[in-house]
Amino acid sequence: MAVILDGRVYADMALDAVAEKVAALKKRGITPGLAVILVGDDPASQTYVRSKGKACDRVGIYSRTMIMAGDTTQAELEKQIAQLNRDEKIHGILLQLPLPPHLDEQHALSCISPEKDVDGFHALNAGRLMLSLEGVQPCTPKGILFMLKQAGVPIEGAHAVVVGRSNIVGKPAAMLLLRENATVTLCHSKTPDLKAQTLQADILVAAVGKPRLITADMVKPGAAVIDVGINRVNGRLVGDVDFENVSGVAGYISPVPGGVGLMTVAMLMDNVVSLAETSLA
Ligand code: NDP
Repeated sequence: MAVILDGRVYADMALDAVAEKVAALKKRGITPGLAVILVGDDPASQTYVRSKGKACDRVGIYSRTMIMAGDTTQAELEKQIAQLNRDEKIHGILLQLPLPPHLDEQHALSCISPEKDVDGFHALNAGRLMLSLEGVQPCTPKGILFMLKQAGVPIEGAHAVVVGRSNIVGKPAAMLLLRENATVTLCHSKTPDLKAQTLQADILVAAVGKPRLITADMVKPGAAVIDVGINRVNGRLVGDVDFENVSGVAGYISPVPGGVGLMTVAMLMDNVVSLAETSLA
């Protein structure tokens, strides 16, 4: 049976460290601040925003949620971002995605000051990641690396296969693994024989959004399997990995819920603190 990578344990560890950093900053007169912009009334987004607010309360970060109507225009959204860029109480700005379809996500993200880009989605920070320079790292991939390292999974020299190439999870996860000297294969919907690729993986990251896409016959015995997917099936949350069967083959596996999702929020808190620290430099 695989070792379960329990997100609660690793997220607690990360949040305790963040709380200490917040306390140190407060002693220097700085309270790290996060602003979350939520456009529309998507229930899943509302849940995510609430969990981020709770995490801020836990570690002592000041948080503000800006709720904007579903018919907000691009100009109104970008004006709100510009205001937050100038707000000295705010060190990190998070635009909750997805936006309603009439809004241009990439353009809105490009309006967030790179110094307050807490998700690391601005082209400048994405470029810094690509060039292996210091900068804000996207929260979910950063959380995956945190989990793997804390669990003692060897990354250097491992073959990591990432399924999914989105800008927010797949691509940055591949870059971070590469930076840690894994040999990385990045798969997507046009990959002809997915199983042939996943069977090579010492570390398998599934970030697709398809319930139980990764089955036990696609996993190399002993592999570390990280399930990023969040899918709702008959009112229940499931990942992209067939947890019941894959846990009999894998060496490590992260569950859904209770895995990567908790790490994402913990790394968000860490990024707010890093941005607040950088603002002092
Ligand atoms: P996207 O929809 O942006 O990307 C999905 C990726 O999966 C695409 O690259 C797509 O390929 C690829 N894909 C689709 N079908 C297949 C297939 N059959 N075989 C191989 N690859 C396939 O999703 P996100 O990256 O934003 O999110 C992925 C999942 O992770 C979702 O379930 C999301 O809810 C979840 N998520 C979880 C987070 C957490 O904190 N736990 C945070 C963010 C996301 P192509 O590019 O060719 O279309």
